[in-house]
Order: sequence, then C-alpha cells, then structure tokens
Amino acid sequence: MPLDTEVRYLKGVGPKLAKTLSRVGVFTLKDLIYYFPREYEDRNDVRPISSLKPGEEALLQGEVVSLTKQKTKRNFVIIKGVIKDASGSIKVIWFNQPFLLNVLKKGTELFLKGKLDYNSYSGETLFVPRYYEIKDAKDPLPVVPIYPLTEGLFQKKMRSIIQLALKECLYKIEDPLPQSIKDNYKLASLKSSIAKLHYPKAVKEVEPAKKRLVFDEFFLFHIGILMRKKALKENLPGIAFQAGGEIVEKFIGSLPFTLTNSQKKVISEIEADMVEAPAMNRLLQGDVGSGKTIVAVYAMLTAIQNGYQVAIMAPTEILANQHYYKIQEFLEGLDVPVRILTGSGDAKARQKVHKEISTGKPLIVVGTHALIEEKVKFEKLGLIVVDEQHRFGVLQRGKLKSKGKNPDVLFMTATPIPRSLALTAYGDLDSSVITEMPPGRTETITRFVDEKEQGAMYGFIRKEIDAGRQVYIVYPLVEESAKIDLKAVKTEHLKLKKTFNELEVGLIHGRMKGEEKNAVMKRFKAGEIDILVSTTVIEVGIDIPNATIMVIEHAERFGLSQLHQLRGRIGRGSERSYCFLVANPKSEAARSRVKAMLDSNDGFYIAEVDLKIRGPGELLGIRQSGLSFPGCLLNFRVADIIHEEEMLGTTRSAAVQLVAEDPFLNKAENKPLKQEILSKYGEFLEIGALN
Ligand code: ADP
Ligand code: MG
Repeated sequence: MPLDTEVRYLKGVGPKLAKTLSRVGVFTLKDLIYYFPREYEDRNDVRPISSLKPGEEALLQGEVVSLTKQKTKRNFVIIKGVIKDASGSIKVIWFNQPFLLNVLKKGTELFLKGKLDYNSYSGETLFVPRYYEIKDAKDPLPVVPIYPLTEGLFQKKMRSIIQLALKECLYKIEDPLPQSIKDNYKLASLKSSIAKLHYPKAVKEVEPAKKRLVFDEFFLFHIGILMRKKALKENLPGIAFQAGGEIVEKFIGSLPFTLTNSQKKVISEIEADMVEAPAMNRLLQGDVGSGKTIVAVYAMLTAIQNGYQVAIMAPTEILANQHYYKIQEFLEGLDVPVRILTGSGDAKARQKVHKEISTGKPLIVVGTHALIEEKVKFEKLGLIVVDEQHRFGVLQRGKLKSKGKNPDVLFMTATPIPRSLALTAYGDLDSSVITEMPPGRTETITRFVDEKEQGAMYGFIRKEIDAGRQVYIVYPLVEESAKIDLKAVKTEHLKLKKTFNELEVGLIHGRMKGEEKNAVMKRFKAGEIDILVSTTVIEVGIDIPNATIMVIEHAERFGLSQLHQLRGRIGRGSERSYCFLVANPKSEAARSRVKAMLDSNDGFYIAEVDLKIRGPGELLGIRQSGLSFPGCLLNFRVADIIHEEEMLGTTRSAAVQLVAEDPFLNKAENKPLKQEILSKYGEFLEIGALN
C-alpha cells in the first residue's frame, strides 16, 4: 500500500475508527507510522510489590484478589482493589472508572503502572495506577509501547493497526536527509529509528531513535521557515527609505538623555533594513523599561521624514490609547500629526481620521483592529508597527500589510519571547534585542507578603511616602468590564482611604472615561496623589519614576508576564523600588509564578518560566495565530520545543548553513528534502510556489 493511503483502507480500521484517528491528526498510513508512543512499559523492570516506596513510580505485575465499587459524597465513583504478587499484596485505587468492574475479575493477571501514594485523609497507603494492562500470552514483548489515546482509541487496537501499517509500508519511507547531514550530526537511519520508537527491544534504544526523529522535525521546519523568509524578501520590492533627516535629528536632539549602546545598535539594525528596498520584517524585543518605544518612534519618524504614513496596531483599546499618549509626549515640539483609530469614539471623529489617511499626508495612526477595516485606505503606508504581535492572527497582519505597497513591518512585544519560540514561531523574522537597561536604575526588591503581614507592609508604605515617594496598589480584574470585581476595587479604595486618612488615595480603573483617567494620572504624576489604587489599566506604558512601591493584591490571579509588566512600572528612577506580592497561592502554577517573580527581575528568565508553566500553545495564543495543525503544535509530533532547546539551536544552525549553500534546495542531493518540506509545510508557510 502507498504511504498516502487513507487509514480506512487498512485492515481493522473501519470508518468510525478512521474518524477518531482524524481527530489526532492521523489521516494516512504515513501519519499512522508517525504516531509515536508517549511512553513505554518496560517489563524488564517489573517491581515486587513488597519493595515499593511511597511517592515512587513503578510497574507491577500481579493478580486481582478483590475489587469493589464505592461512591463518595460528591458522587464520584471509586474502585478499590487488592492486587497480589509473589512478594505480597497492595491496595489499589481508581477514580471515576466504573467500567473496570466489568473488565477486571478476581484472578485476572495484569500489569499496573503508577505511584504509591500516602493518603493523609484516610491514613491509607494506596497504589494509584496511571495505566493498566491485562496480561496477554500473545504479547510477550519486553518493552510495550503506550500510545497517546483519546476517546474511542484503545491501546491494543493502536498497537495492532500501527504494527500492520509498519509491515505494509515502512519499507516505503524514504529518508529525505542528504548523506552529509546524517554524517555530520551522527544520525541513525530513519527507517530503523521509526521501527525502534514503536517497538524497542530495550528502553535504551529509544533515545537515539528519538533523536533522529526530533532532528528531522526541527530541521525541516527551520528550512521551511528560512525559505519563507527569503521568499518574502526577494519576491516583492519594498520601499528604500533614506536614513536620518531633519525630523529624526530633531527628535534625537530633544531627548533628555542619550541612547544606550543597545538602543543605538538596534536602531542601526532597523535603519539598515529600512534603507534597503526589500521590506523589513523584524522583531524588536527587550525587557519592560528597556526603551523599546523610542526605538519604534525612531523608525516611525524615518518613514515620516520620507513622506510616508505609519500605522501602529495594538491588540486592545487601552494599549492603543497608551501608545497614543506616549508617542504624542515623545513628539512634543515636532510637527508630526498623531491620530488614534479604535472601535469606540464618535463616528464623526473616526470619519475625519479616515479622510486624513486617504489623502496620503504623512502621519502616525495608532489603533486597534479598527485599522484593518475596509474603510481605512492608506494612500502612502510606509511602515507598520505591530505591538504584542502574537495576539494578532496571520490573516490580520496580512490585511494591514496589504493596505500599503509592501511596507516595512516592525513587530514589538511588551515582554521578551523565550528563545525557543523566537526560533520557531518567529523564525521568519529578523531579530533585534535590547539587552541593556537605561543607566541609573536600581534593582527592584520583590517580596512575598501573606495576609498577616499587611500591617507591617502598610507601615513600610507610610515611611516611603514620608520620604516623598508614591505607591501603586493593584487589584485584579478578570475582565475590565466585570462589575463584581470593580465593586471590590471600589470598596478596597474606601478602606484604604480610611487606613491612610492623612494621605491622598486615588482610584483609577478601566471603566472610567478617558478624560477622567487622564485627570487622575496627571494628578499622580504631579505628586498630588500618594497612593494610586488601580486595576490593571496601568499594566503597560505608565511611566512615573517617583513611584517606588508596587503592591499587587491577589497576585496569584495574575499571569506571570502581567506580574512582570506591573513590576516594570517601578524601578524607573534612581531610588530603590519595592514590589510586594500579596498572595495566597493555592495551585502549583500560582506558586511557580510567585516564585519566579521572587527569583528574578530579568524578563528573559521570566519568559522562559512562563513558557514552562503555560506551554507554547497558551503563550502564543495559538488559536489566533494559526500555528497549530490538527493534533499538534507546529506539526511537531515527537519534538518538544521546551525540553529540546539545544537540539532546536543545533538544527537551526544546520538549516541556516544548508540554505546558505542552496537557498531553494535545487541541488540533486537536496531534492528529496525539498519535496518533503513542501508537502509538509508548503501550504502553512505559503512557500508552495517556490522553486
Ligand atoms: P519599554 O517600552 O521598553 O517598556 P519605554 O520605551 O517605555 O520602555 O522606556 C522606559 C523609560 O525609560 C521611559 O521613561 C523612557 O523615557 C526611558 N528611557 C528610554 N531610553 C532611555 C535612555 N537611553 N536613558 C534614560 N532613560 C531612557
Ligand atoms: Mg525597506
């Protein structure tokens, strides 16, 4: 059977199973062959029951002595049983699997994989199986593959159909890698690696086999994305701007400080892209407070100086507004029009902006999705800045880009992106990183405060305010519109007014009108407010160096990058700053977030931890960004970008080198590789038409 045969033509796979398989991304026999076990049951490693220690993972082999069903108060079903082997017996517990009573009978011989747990509630020591399997004389394998399952898939069935698929067509798998790559990176043969991943004779055979498959997945993806990058650059000519000029020089001259070396370097990278005709596609990264905005404004003014228009798109209205005010502040005294375009505001004002845009006059428009509406017609769009770009879909980005004639694009993120994501999800962008903070900042001290220590914290706050500083106290709002939360913040505000009755305690939240918010911020900036009670509206962009304390209430309810952003509001002046996390973290993830904040001030470190806690899918907002395929992220079935970062880097270098030698893989020895990449990624990376 050919590799691309649909699975339903395989013996033992009916239409129903075929449909279930399609849900895990398996459509063809080749997909089935590439559906690998998530773990193995190593029957060379069966443990005697009497040797088990609490907390330890182990594989047992034994016989069912008894099995009973119980219901808990909350209507959970518990199956309790006793299993024995030659060395002794043990109590076993299963949660919510009532069907087990029909499957496991007294005397059934089985394997159990799981953990011995001490239950402090009942005082019992119980074995909690993660997985069980009835012993089968026909299945005498030493190492048994355990496949990831979903509803309607069963281990034994998966094993038999995969075995059959291997028999039918493993020999047809062609190795796409050129020999030189296999030699250089000491890679095992593809066919034998696939076979060993499904049926290793010993567990130690798995690692090298897996290495080969991981290499292929990463390597092919990297090449695909590098080809895309090249194609983007070479297919369409863009704009060749002239660097410098009066406006740009005036702007730099007006800054009350000198740029850091890191900012200068990044600016020169961006400028080099802008003066070249191919369109810029660059990602600008830097920690909170590292001074990204100035860099972006520099790029914007370069476009303006050349008579072009600039669009800057942010994912939310609040962010758009903040950019709007901040950019205006930077451009004070320069004669550059800055406009805002969001979904709200009155229709007349919006129409006016639409009209201005359509005349082609050089201006900066800050906005949200409203920028990509049909009605918005840029006459001379030269530069697009996309902020928090992972929150926009590929489609939306494309739409904005199509409003100009291949304009330059600069992507920005509020917090750094972990290296592994920068290499994969953003692998087609050039990258600029601001690695240094402006001078004169002192490291912020972060402390965990439990509810009992609130009094002491208030005392500390008073002392700092006496010394002339200002304070933020932030409360979480799940949604900026959630009424209940808002009420809670207002109540807290009143309480704090009483507690600090000798001080000025202000309030700001997202439901206030724009002018109200501005008025409060103005007073805070002028030092008329000592303590500003706030929701997360102040998360991004607020810049008041005299504020040195950030209290984050219910810190467990904030995401890690949000916490880091909030902390970025302080530590902006030369005085020592303090961030207090008032929290009662109950979940493991919440504790990890708090711990990361206590451990480090470094946004790059925080981003790595965030990735580990949330996983790449969440972090990228996968659904919008179009990076997931049926069944898997970035089409990696075996590889894991978090835990195999080293291999990710190795394969990237290998890909860069190969693409440098043979950009579109047209040499004879690279043809099979090209074929494979196009069939796997052609459509997704829009490189189908390359040759
Ligand atoms: P980011 O957007 O990266 O979080 P901002 O652009 O808001 O950072 O800059 C943070 C603060 O640092 C702002 O007050 C800005 O004016 C100031 N700043 C930026 N660059 C410098 C510099 N080279 N020297 C001193 N202050 C700077
Ligand atoms: Mg250009």
